[in-house]
Amino acid sequence: MVIIGAGKAGARAPISLREHGWKGRITLIGEEPLAPYDRPPLSKAAMTAAEEPAPVFLLDDELLQALDVTFIANATATDIDRAEKEVVLADGRRIPYQKLLIATGARARRLALPGAERALMLRDFHESVALRAACAPGRSVAIIGGGFIGLELAASASQRGCKVTVIEAQPRILMRGVTEAVARRIAARHEAAGVVLLTGIGVERIEADAVVLSDGRRIPAEIVIAGIGAAPAVALAEASGLALDNGIACDVEMRTSDPDIYAAGDCCSFPHGLYGGRRLRLEAWRSAQDQAAVAAENMLGGHRQFTAVPWFWSDQYELNLQIAGLPSDGVSSCTRPMKDDAFIEFHLDGEGRLVGASGIGRGNAIARDIKLAEMLIAKGARPDQAALAHPDVALRGLLK
Ligand code: FAD
Ligand code: NAP
Repeated sequence: MVIIGAGKAGARAPISLREHGWKGRITLIGEEPLAPYDRPPLSKAAMTAAEEPAPVFLLDDELLQALDVTFIANATATDIDRAEKEVVLADGRRIPYQKLLIATGARARRLALPGAERALMLRDFHESVALRAACAPGRSVAIIGGGFIGLELAASASQRGCKVTVIEAQPRILMRGVTEAVARRIAARHEAAGVVLLTGIGVERIEADAVVLSDGRRIPAEIVIAGIGAAPAVALAEASGLALDNGIACDVEMRTSDPDIYAAGDCCSFPHGLYGGRRLRLEAWRSAQDQAAVAAENMLGGHRQFTAVPWFWSDQYELNLQIAGLPSDGVSSCTRPMKDDAFIEFHLDGEGRLVGASGIGRGNAIARDIKLAEMLIAKGARPDQAALAHPDVALRGLLK
């Protein structure tokens, strides 16, 4: 069993392979120098920590040993010789496989405009260390992109005492992933922290000490950060002739167009049973983990389908937002107000089926009800809207 990519999905796969009784060899190939570590802290705790942070390892040396995993670090897989069933590494080494999992994740999109080489980006641990050092108190920081990376870094940099401006080309922040009401709450919190949010405006060029906007305005910036999205890492799959469709194209069992090769995580798309077989690609921590578990079971001959409800979270300041399901599939919605200004919006399709829930609150205020919403979505429940919106009606009761 060979796994390419030692990130969230790549770290989960060996655990699942052993859990399901695989006693043979497992090789994990990663191009980074570190054992698999967690990415979510990189824009949050790792940025605000008083001391220079250490990676949060998903598999450390002890666990790799306990699982009897051969871990090859600093190794980029450049080709898959599917006829010989061997993975080819950049240094020419060839690693034979019986079944293969591709878990190469996604890569940060690069800005293409004059001066773009000045922009820092964030995908790996070392970039996070560099960003933390750059965002020293008092510095002016311009962040291009009002998505998750941009906003989590804006919160962290402002908590570090930087003067932060976020520049978003869309009419509002978090245009794609989050509803307007949730985005408004986040925007207000950033503004209260002194972060300037500029929306509906593009960037013309980056100069030595400023970002120049498309209307000619100059935003002073000692540090420039780009958080403009990620693209699935498919170069290897493409070179190996695997089918692609918004990432590596998998079936419901996370199998690629080659029956001996599976994929999991940010790098792949798959037809989702809960959404009528619509092809989705999810860029989220929990789906990477759950898809790897499904793929591992199927690499051993299983036939499990990945049907989990999409879910992700973001932490900015003391606020926690969580989205379950696909809110954009909803045609109507209702809002449940909760304690301490928290709220959850429920999104229903034309037949009254709950298809998404978007919540925001302090700490873990919304966690339990989002979990229950997720269970309702998984069941295809058609709950009464008045009950959903009423804070005194327990969501657990609607599950029956
Ligand atoms: P990755 O974790 O990206 O791992 C892929 C690995 O494969 C990388 O180490 C890469 O170097 C390696 N690789 C690529 N190509 C090759 C090759 N050819 N050969 C060998 N190795 C290769 N999600 C949430 O739900 N909530 C959050 O709060 C959250 N915060 C995040 C914060 C940051 C800063 C980032 C970057 C992401 C965050 N995410 C969050 C997203 C989440 O971390 C990803 O969805 C998850 O890491 C995806 O796991 P993966 O295994 O598919 O890919
Ligand atoms: P993202 O959430 O897709 O946000 C990128 C934002 O930048 C979008 O709003 C995008 O608008 C905008 N943008 C694109 N090009 C631009 C340009 N030239 N100028 C100004 N704005 C531009 O991606 P991200 O925040 O960069 O995150 C990268 C990856 O990390 C993703 O996989 C993400 O899921 C993951 N991540 C997740 C979390 C979380 O879930 N909490 C946290 C951090 C990172 P358009 O929509 O028009 O492209």
